[in-house]
Amino acid sequence: MERESDYRERLKKSGLKYTKHRTAILAILAQSEPPLAAEQIYLALRERGLPANLSTVYRTIETLAEKNLLKKRSLIGDSRVLFEYNRAHHSHYLVCLGCKKMLPIRRCPLGDYEEKLERETNYTIAGHNLDVYGYCPDCREKGHRGN
Ligand SMILES: [Zn+2]
Ligand SMILES: [Zn+2]
Repeated sequence: MERESDYRERLKKSGLKYTKHRTAILAILAQSEPPLAAEQIYLALRERGLPANLSTVYRTIETLAEKNLLKKRSLIGDSRVLFEYNRAHHSHYLVCLGCKKMLPIRRCPLGDYEEKLERETNYTIAGHNLDVYGYCPDCREKGHRGN
């Protein structure tokens, strides 16, 4: 678990000045497993007693994303842009198309495949995106069946 001083250090290394909101946003996203939308970050800041207006929240997360402290993520069937803390390891999710719940997939299934692809193509692979979609048991019970 990272501490406030770690977030300060990250800001400094990225050439960003320390602000309470920047630090709090990093902490909120580092503590949240699934990525969050700007509106959810806005609400989490209020809960922490650090209210900011939505346009400030947008501006702050864009700044943090530009410096690669946050990663952007988008999901099929969801118009929102989600933000996640840029952790040392990357993550994949099983996403419910009904309720948008995101279940982390613990093990990356693509490690061997990347190596194979590098050998085959002589590219240097830098990363990948993968999310898997479906309907969770709750939504399936409510009648969603998928295609
Ligand atoms: Zn669901
Ligand atoms: Zn992966």
